Amino acid sequence: MKIYIDPGHGGSDSGAIGPTGLKEKDINLSIAAKVGQILQKHGIGAILTRQDDSRVELADRVKTANNNGADYFISIHTNSASNPAATGTETFAFPNSALGTKLADAVQKSLVNEIGLANRGVKHRDFFVLKNTKMPAILVETAFINNPGEEKLLKDQNFLDKAVTGISKGILTFLGIEYKDDNDKDDNISSWARDAMKWATDKEANLTDGSMPKEPVSLERLITILYRYHNLFNR
Ligand SMILES: [Zn+2]
Repeated sequence: MKIYIDPGHGGSDSGAIGPTGLKEKDINLSIAAKVGQILQKHGIGAILTRQDDSRVELADRVKTANNNGADYFISIHTNSASNPAATGTETFAFPNSALGTKLADAVQKSLVNEIGLANRGVKHRDFFVLKNTKMPAILVETAFINNPGEEKLLKDQNFLDKAVTGISKGILTFLGIEYKDDNDKDDNISSWARDAMKWATDKEANLTDGSMPKEPVSLERLITILYRYHNLFNR
């Protein structure tokens, strides 16, 4: 399985620019690179059409995907309109592409679910990268960079992470692959202990910070955990 992830614009082509100067090309690359990482962690060959801030012509993006037998092509953009109040998320597929539309539906649904912006739905256009790719292709417009509120969101790493999760989950759902949360903190914790650890490190319980999960517990750590547990029910 080979998926080409296409961060829109790059280099001298900034794409749309937000009211405070945020450049579309940078947001597209940030989202695309992380989506690629997540797909790879799920065993999918994910390849970026540009790895850095360089200019790659649309024809070359399409050509590499076509020549390398890509199964799917996913172009990542942020939207822009003359109206500063334009808002929401939309995903494009090529007209009459059944698989492209199905993929667009899955990504649009999952992305809106994660980031919570207005759902503008799946639309069909003959954009260059949708028209000239041989495989099912979609183009995602995460949010409106020209809208001051959405530009602010696009500067927020937490929001971008949600967008990454949303797009990745959508692709995986379409492929019938179960999404596995990649929480590095959990790496050393045995699977049977994860629920309990999640509860104990939760802000509400706050029994432990979760560090040294495999180490024997000292008296002072044990007493602290018991003390916090006691306080949990005596607030
Ligand atoms: Zn764009």
